[in-house]
Amino acid sequence: MLDETATPITAPPAGNRLAPNYHPLQVVLAHGEGSWVTDTDGHRYLDFLAGYSALNFGHRHPALVAAAAAQLDRLTLTSRAFDHELLHPFARAVTELTDTQMLLPMNTGVEAVETAVKAARRWGHEVKGVPDGDATIVVAAEAFHGRTTTAVSMSTDPEARGGFGPYTPGFRIVPYDDVDAVDEAIDASTVAVLVEPVQGEAGVRIPAPGYLPRLRELTETAGALLVLDEVQSGLGRTGATLAQHRSGVQADLTTLGKALGGGLLPVSACVGRADVLGVLEPGTHGSTFGGNPLACAVGLAVVDLLRPGDLQARATELGQEMAERLDGLVDEGLLARVRTVGLWAGLDVAPGLGLAGRELCERLARRGLLAKDTHGATVRLSPPLTIDRADLHHGLDVLTEVLQDAAR
Ligand code: PMP
Repeated sequence: MLDETATPITAPPAGNRLAPNYHPLQVVLAHGEGSWVTDTDGHRYLDFLAGYSALNFGHRHPALVAAAAAQLDRLTLTSRAFDHELLHPFARAVTELTDTQMLLPMNTGVEAVETAVKAARRWGHEVKGVPDGDATIVVAAEAFHGRTTTAVSMSTDPEARGGFGPYTPGFRIVPYDDVDAVDEAIDASTVAVLVEPVQGEAGVRIPAPGYLPRLRELTETAGALLVLDEVQSGLGRTGATLAQHRSGVQADLTTLGKALGGGLLPVSACVGRADVLGVLEPGTHGSTFGGNPLACAVGLAVVDLLRPGDLQARATELGQEMAERLDGLVDEGLLARVRTVGLWAGLDVAPGLGLAGRELCERLARRGLLAKDTHGATVRLSPPLTIDRADLHHGLDVLTEVLQDAAR
């Protein structure tokens, strides 16, 4: 039997001053180590969300904490008005890891996406000759690229979009995993096709194997860029360093974020072709904090963790075990569908259980397992890539028992 003591559901404090833009599970965390977190009352939870893949290496990975601590004693910020000793090594390490040519450092994922959009538009103007203001970028329905006005303009999510207009023009939204729709949407004004290799927020939607290779061909034929948003899918989650590598595709621009900061601080980047990022001449784009010494120190330590490839292999291996167990839950009639790639799963609860994703996550939290719903009955699992095998199976035991209870 699972420990069901001490349901850790707490209400927001009286006199709440926090803006209501999130609807978190009411678990108040105080400490984290590896795959485990502890709330303010001392209850332990196994973290199967891992900061939406920002915590691919678990909480407070010792190598990352040590790198940050050492850098705190040296230099923390230059604001890009001045270079610092880690900036070029960081650019070299991340580009070598991702097999790209150049890196532009930013902070959050959405800033990396903004960077890619601006670089693609400017490249389209300067190289392809598209008049300034006429550029179009083909994007995918149900995508998630972040929350700025431009990023929500690339989205069909009614929650993300409602009432924030006017939206940034120049995006053609076509169905995801539909090569023909992209083909139809491309014309002489198209500077880029920008999609997620796996749609994370949409519930881990994995396209057909030929999708990215066909987009690569289409963009090459059209003289447009292929931009892949790997903020969530990148850095080991899918069992490869980049999800695009699984289909043998190399994008012209790739956005990275989340795990690049190891869960310690926001670190993002747009990596890709030198001739494309090269259009962002001095003064045209930047960020006070992008590429700061602390971010680079942690980012370099993140690359050190990923360079040997062991964590990617682990994501594949443990992911297969997770997929087998989740498939078993489909066979039992507890789940309607499961989508898995690497150590990443999107699952849809069987409608017969009458259990919304949110309700499932609340029940899981009461049993000491943290996961997050997306839309409706869909729940995503993305445990740290460093998770112990026994812990992974423990979490899957909890999920199984909660679903079995609901079916009774
Ligand atoms: N792109 C993708 C694919 C994402 O999943 C996210 C975050 N969920 C973002 C961009 C935005 O990242 P951030 O929240 O760091 O701005």
